[in-house]
Amino acid sequence: MRLFDHPEFDGHERVLFGHDAASGLKAIIAIHDSTRGPAVGGCRLWNYEREADALTDVLRLSRGMSYKSALANLPFGGGKSVILGAPGIKSPALFRAMGRLVDSLGGHYRAAEDVGISVEDVEIMGEVTPHVAGTRAGGFGDPSPATARGVFMGLKAAANARLGRDDLTGLRVAVQGVGNVGYHLCRLLHGAGAKLLVTDINQEAVRRCVEEFSAEAVALDAIYDQEVDIYAPCALGATINDDTLPRLKARIVAGSANNQLAEERHGEALRQAGILYAPDYAINAGGIIVIAHETRPGGPVYDEMLAMRTVDGIYDTLLAIFERAEQDGVATSLAADRVAKDRLAPPLSAAAQ
Ligand code: NAD
Repeated sequence: MRLFDHPEFDGHERVLFGHDAASGLKAIIAIHDSTRGPAVGGCRLWNYEREADALTDVLRLSRGMSYKSALANLPFGGGKSVILGAPGIKSPALFRAMGRLVDSLGGHYRAAEDVGISVEDVEIMGEVTPHVAGTRAGGFGDPSPATARGVFMGLKAAANARLGRDDLTGLRVAVQGVGNVGYHLCRLLHGAGAKLLVTDINQEAVRRCVEEFSAEAVALDAIYDQEVDIYAPCALGATINDDTLPRLKARIVAGSANNQLAEERHGEALRQAGILYAPDYAINAGGIIVIAHETRPGGPVYDEMLAMRTVDGIYDTLLAIFERAEQDGVATSLAADRVAKDRLAPPLSAAAQ
């Protein structure tokens, strides 16, 4: 298994492999970049087929967190951790062992929930280390409404850039997935006068949006074919692919789902098709923003006003990405990486020292 010349290594600052025989813990913590502050990122429990897959996953996710935090202007770096194993290995002893591993980094990394890890699991880690985030003691609870608010702001920025209007009245928006984030997004869009078309495998979730927001229900696969201004993917990843892209009639893609592009090249394909793409890790940062505010070093535990102001900053971040894409003549997905990398660079004064 390669590390320093691993394709996803990308100059990671630290990679820590941890093992605890008593609890069966096998874990990797990756810290990609701490220029902006201590690394914050989720801890994932996954039954990887090979250990090499776990390393690839943690490196890729940790770099993604650096970019996400930098784009959201948070004083945090990027990190991530993975615990290798099936859900059945979960135990308080395992999470205490993981907590001790996190603690050994002395605050350079703060762990939060991710796939396979619940709030309760993180709280057990919190029994042995203060370096956890996203716990109930933090004061904000479910991050989904904040994520939806950020997506709403990003969607307005996209409407401004592509349609020349901030006002969403009368715009048609196709929302794919009306779960935690999608539902709250529909609420905001309905309040702003948009016309909603929704789909979900959960018919109850669809019915709620039809009743509460006068949304039109659409069949699962038909969501790509709708005559809409905006397509908002809020369910799965990889829904922008060779099959769906030629079917889209929307002029904007802006939603909460992670990894919306099946492959990097689909960012350029959207540009060629004249569709403005709001890069996923920029527009869906509302959740990490509230988590970051919970853990602000030396600050109050949770300042809701400040957190929401930062979430609303997603509007300006997206405008900056769209401008950069225009200037450089590249896809917005690539422009987002470039803006994030600029924000990762040390301040001039620090670089001179
Ligand atoms: P969720 O599970 O509450 O909602 C997802 C919804 O999508 C569910 O209602 C589900 O039934 C539906 N769905 C699943 N497959 C579908 C399909 N093929 N077609 C239509 N609908 C389908 O999850 P969530 O927390 O709302 O997150 C939604 C997306 O946003 C995910 O990709 C998630 O990774 C991303 N995201 C969420 C947050 C957050 O704060 N919750 C933050 C950042 C990114």
